[in-house]
Amino acid sequence: METALYKEPAPIADKENPFESMMQRFDVAAELLELERGVYEYLKTPVKQVTVSIPIQMDNGEIEVFEGYRVIHNDALGPSKGGIRYAPDITLDEMKALAAWMTWKCSIANIPFGGAKGGVKCDPNKLTQVELEKITRRFTANMLDIFGPDKDIPAPDMNTNEQVMAWIMDTYSMHVRRTETAVVTGKPLIIGGSLGRREATGRGVMVVTFAAMAKLGLNPKQTTCAVQGFGNVGSVSAKLLSEQGLKVVAISDVSGGYYNKRGIDVNQAIEWVQKHRVLEGSGIGDPISNEELLELDIDVLVPAAKEDQITGKNASKIKAKIIVEGANGPTASKADPILDSKGILVVPDILANSGGVTVSYFEWVQDRQGYFWTLDRVNHRLERMMHEAFNNVFQTGEKYKVSMRLGAYILAIDKVAKTLKVRGIYA
Ligand code: NAD
Repeated sequence: METALYKEPAPIADKENPFESMMQRFDVAAELLELERGVYEYLKTPVKQVTVSIPIQMDNGEIEVFEGYRVIHNDALGPSKGGIRYAPDITLDEMKALAAWMTWKCSIANIPFGGAKGGVKCDPNKLTQVELEKITRRFTANMLDIFGPDKDIPAPDMNTNEQVMAWIMDTYSMHVRRTETAVVTGKPLIIGGSLGRREATGRGVMVVTFAAMAKLGLNPKQTTCAVQGFGNVGSVSAKLLSEQGLKVVAISDVSGGYYNKRGIDVNQAIEWVQKHRVLEGSGIGDPISNEELLELDIDVLVPAAKEDQITGKNASKIKAKIIVEGANGPTASKADPILDSKGILVVPDILANSGGVTVSYFEWVQDRQGYFWTLDRVNHRLERMMHEAFNNVFQTGEKYKVSMRLGAYILAIDKVAKTLKVRGIYA
């Protein structure tokens, strides 16, 4: 893999600790639910946190040591599930927040999984394919006691892909002396992946965007949209939303933002990125900054890049009527009251991007049955489950007279808390 010369994105001034950001919402929801203290403590604390060192002989012959993490937040509903992220700036705190989000996400999506998250602190843009494979295999070998189809099931996340999942599946299978496809999801089709998995998160974003637009009576043909981030989630969301009639006027990635008031040709942008990795140089629109993209006068904003993009500092400048959180944690908790006071309908991450984990669940079911579904069946079931989840969250928000975000937390926490209570405490 060649080294990419990316421009560093502008730092976000008001960065919150993601774990604290998640906990703030958790605390408010727990109070509204009148959660008892012991259950609150139980749900606050990850059940397992593992850090491993990953020594690798690099292509130049030198040994480099990387750090890998896996946090299992909760496994009351079933085996834990969550992505593996490769990035130079990941921290254990970030993994803890993302793992808890997975617990709530699986609970809302109504799938029998708990929540986990993991990753390796590395810069994949500076690694060759051989180095990336070595890191993945050594990370997997070190996590052998953690991972397993009945225990903890990784999936792709930022900077990891089908190939990385294939290496994890192969390494695990070599160690357990049998082919175990259900140990990871998001695999290539040829080794037990599911049709529709790659597009699932973006498809889910599209489904809940339409459900939110229906609540506000927005006509798709007159609805404009901007998407931040043009990776798996952002590019598929932008493509499906534009196919369904919305005008996508701006997209962005780590190289910056691009605006075209007549509408971006999303397919052309996807083709460009497939060849050149970043949008820079594509000529698909006028250059704007990522901050400007967030503040455009549009109907729907889809932040689909990373955490802490909408903050206490820029929330008052957001003009969109609907925010659909494709990324995990794109809105800092300080921004919540500002967005609420502006009457912006925020479809929260734990609902909006749950399409990925829902089809991951379908993939796991198919692997375990050895029986594979058609794309139509996958998409149809995904759309039905996303609609049900949207309606459940919306209704919970209305019942408690709170935002959809708090409604989502209340719904999710209530289900996990009830499960804990009925299972009881083993001692
Ligand atoms: P990805 O690596 O495929 O894409 C990330 C995109 O964001 C890239 O286009 C990158 O250039 C861009 N980006 C990075 N920093 C940016 C910045 N500061 N401003 C604008 N763009 C920036 O990752 P992905 O899989 O699309 O994941 C994106 C987000 O969605 C993450 O928060 C991830 O946790 C979340 N998510 C992903 C999935 C999934 O199935 N892939 C599921 C649920 C949630």
